[in-house]
Amino acid sequence: MVTKKDNMKVYQNEETKIIVNEEWCKSCGICINYCPKKVLVANEKGYPVAEKIDDCIQCMLCELRCPDFAIRVENRKKVANYNMKDGSLED
Ligand code: SF4
Ligand code: SF4
Repeated sequence: MVTKKDNMKVYQNEETKIIVNEEWCKSCGICINYCPKKVLVANEKGYPVAEKIDDCIQCMLCELRCPDFAIRVENRKKVANYNMKDGSLED
């Protein structure tokens, strides 16, 4: 599923959410090249699109290698289970 709000593109399935800030992205392609599962492809402007999000293993390499903090990966289950009281993660 893809949603767009302002310059943020959000790709998600049950496990994973990948958020691309197209205002900050400079289309360098680093995230695409580092992804070991070939989840990301470039669109016509060079912005990453999570075309194969079901193959994402949440290794975070795309997020860690992006020089512009323009791509973020979230584990949706962990976020959903985050305990607001003590900050622990519940299974
Ligand atoms: S978290 Fe890893 S597998 Fe998922 S899109 Fe980023 S680089 Fe690819
Ligand atoms: S590494 Fe960052 S700036 Fe480069 S294409 Fe990916 S999201 Fe955009």
